[in-house]
Amino acid sequence: MSDQDIIASLVPSADIFIGGVWKRGRGATFASQYPADGSVNAEISTADADDAREAVEAADIAWRKANWAGLKPHQRALVLYRIADLIMQRHEALAQLQRRDNGKPINETRVLVASAANTFRYFAACLETLDEELTPSRGDYMTMSVHEPIGVIAAITPWNSPIASDAQKLAPALAGGNAVVLKPAEVTPLASLALARICEEAGVPPGVLSVLPGKGSVIGDVLVRHPLVKKVSFTGGTEVGRGIARLAAEKLMPVSLELGGKSPTMVFADADLDHAVNGVLYGIFSSSGEACIAGSRLFVERSIYDEFMRRLVAKARELRVGDPSLESTQMGPLITAKHRESVERYVALGLEEGGRLLCGGERPAGDGFFYQPTILEGLSNRARICQEEIFGPVLIAMPFDDEAALLKDANDSVFGLAAGIWTRDYKRAYRVARALETGTVWINTYKLFSISTPFSGWKESGMGREKGRLGIREYMQQKSLYWGLNDAPMAWAN
Ligand code: NAD
Repeated sequence: MSDQDIIASLVPSADIFIGGVWKRGRGATFASQYPADGSVNAEISTADADDAREAVEAADIAWRKANWAGLKPHQRALVLYRIADLIMQRHEALAQLQRRDNGKPINETRVLVASAANTFRYFAACLETLDEELTPSRGDYMTMSVHEPIGVIAAITPWNSPIASDAQKLAPALAGGNAVVLKPAEVTPLASLALARICEEAGVPPGVLSVLPGKGSVIGDVLVRHPLVKKVSFTGGTEVGRGIARLAAEKLMPVSLELGGKSPTMVFADADLDHAVNGVLYGIFSSSGEACIAGSRLFVERSIYDEFMRRLVAKARELRVGDPSLESTQMGPLITAKHRESVERYVALGLEEGGRLLCGGERPAGDGFFYQPTILEGLSNRARICQEEIFGPVLIAMPFDDEAALLKDANDSVFGLAAGIWTRDYKRAYRVARALETGTVWINTYKLFSISTPFSGWKESGMGREKGRLGIREYMQQKSLYWGLNDAPMAWAN
């Protein structure tokens, strides 16, 4: 099948999904573009503020019904298993669609689609097996801790891994018996719309899911402020997240925020250098650096710095940047022309700040929004390009002399998302890992993900956590039940 046929099979019209009905959104039409050559994937209608309000109102009616929140956990789990199965039945087509949507290489999008299916399957299994709690009785009564749905959840996702980040919110939120109004990133609506068709086919009742492509500043804002929206689950940039947290505070509404990062990777002199070179390259340049967890600050022990950098730069120069449809491609294009310009401005800033370019720093010839893998050195950790998230294929390398100085610099960041350690000394690995102020630490590996392990950002990288067995509880409210067991009436009123 041609790419156009695949897109038409999964996203057959310009309609969007509002309150269980496929229809034209009342916002402007959006031309989804293939970042590898700028060609148009599809014209999609977008939601306006009234569509957003309509979706929320439909959601507020839908979640309470017997066919959703009223289902027993194992019954609702069946719907989630079906979603997982349907995703896997369309695995290759969805991977191609995701490639067209945001330009990631096909090998990466295949993994993302499989991970979306795993997420639904995992939360279905959690839903079936999570216990409510009988708490120790302290009198003539029995006590229980149970959990209820929250209601209408607004899920707001970024463009870098749409199908996987949508699944990470939809699966636990639906498992919890809630309704979800999903707002995908403006530039990547296709995977979310395809997922909506799958959810509908799998038996998610009308109104329980709406998908609203459109502008964050309009749709996202209406969703966050709407009184019937009872929780926002947001993944995106720190500044937008901060604005959402402010609005959520006004409503006293729970909010979970998965935000930006500027993650340090550190290589000690005793590390297996072949592993470390490959791991550092993968950590920053896979996904073209468009990953919140990208290892974008590199610290290398001074005694091996020159040798390590020689090997790293030689391999970075050989990375295959190009056509995302080829299995051999390691780096696809950046998401948009505008985003590439922002990456370029950061590289120029790094050079102005005194940085030296070791490789990259240019656009390759040809169409599309490509940018070469870029490594700079000669900067201190206080340089702006070491402190601000670039979200592109740009690595800044710095030597370090001892563990204390390393930890000071590694932790000197407003972000606290992830970190990588390369060493053969397990005691040091443990010591350093525990001292790092980040939600995830990879030891002799990088960017591994498991749905059964929680994920959270520290500091300005976020609030709340996703994934893991208790991920469903992030989308439920705890309730305590007291059962009186005393035969006599309460003595106080006698
Ligand atoms: P972004 O913050 O610009 O947009 C994210 C989403 O928020 C989009 O759907 C956007 O339309 C919406 N939005 C924009 N303005 C809004 C507003 N005022 N109110 C409500 N919603 C609004 O981020 P992006 O450019 O799409 O994605 C890149 C960012 O996402 C990076 O900072 C990256 O680190 C972060 N990210 C974090 C994680 C994580 O798990 N921590 C994962 C992926 C991406």
